[in-house]
Amino acid sequence: MTAKSSILDPAITEYIADSTVREHPTLRELREETARLSQWRMAIGPEQGQLMALLAHTIGARRYLEIGVFTGYSSLAMALALPSDGYILACDVNEETTAVARRYWEYAGVAGKIDLRIAPAAQTLEGLRRENVEPFDMAFIDADKVNVDTYYEYALDLVRSGGLILVDNVLWDGAVLDESVDDADTRALRAISFKAGRDNRVEVALVPVCDGLLIARKK
Ligand code: SAM
Ligand code: CA
Repeated sequence: MTAKSSILDPAITEYIADSTVREHPTLRELREETARLSQWRMAIGPEQGQLMALLAHTIGARRYLEIGVFTGYSSLAMALALPSDGYILACDVNEETTAVARRYWEYAGVAGKIDLRIAPAAQTLEGLRRENVEPFDMAFIDADKVNVDTYYEYALDLVRSGGLILVDNVLWDGAVLDESVDDADTRALRAISFKAGRDNRVEVALVPVCDGLLIARKK
């Protein structure tokens, strides 16, 4: 089994995968199909899917908000983890890659839990806030990095107290440490970790799984 991290020693990643990763067969098939795409690295690895499922179970999550779907690995992992009355609101702009996601949601029998909104996420999130929807238990931010702070603020509004806000790729292949790297994505990812780290509205941990996962619990 291969897992995905360019931050950890590959041997450590391999050990984690061999010792503890349990991947649903449909997730494995989706991962293998996604691996054939040039952008395959955008998908989370199986060890992260397993961590997110464990977190969802720990907090008794039923309503999950996903910002950035791609071919559906993280949303499928979460749909399989949520109870039968679980609900996922998923945001993306790409019809083509989310068509792959829809196919796997159907195949795994979880499509009925997932409400995919094809529109810029900020527009969808503004709509949810205006409609005053029932709060979410958990949100996963994994779309355009330059807007990560906007999504974090929306998530803080839309997630219940005691719920979790996860931000992906906060180690950005190690680029966040490299002072010579100063592009907008890297700056936004550095800024969100330092902001969340000092944000009294949340408890926080930065976990070096895959490309770095920030976990914030709304107080
Ligand atoms: N969470 C997915 C997984 O683990 O398989 C990976 C998501 S991928 C890193 C980022 C996704 O964000 C892409 O599918 C892209 O189309 C989407 N995206 C980019 N800009 C967006 C925007 N403004 N609103 C919503 N989605 C956007
Ligand atoms: Ca990601």
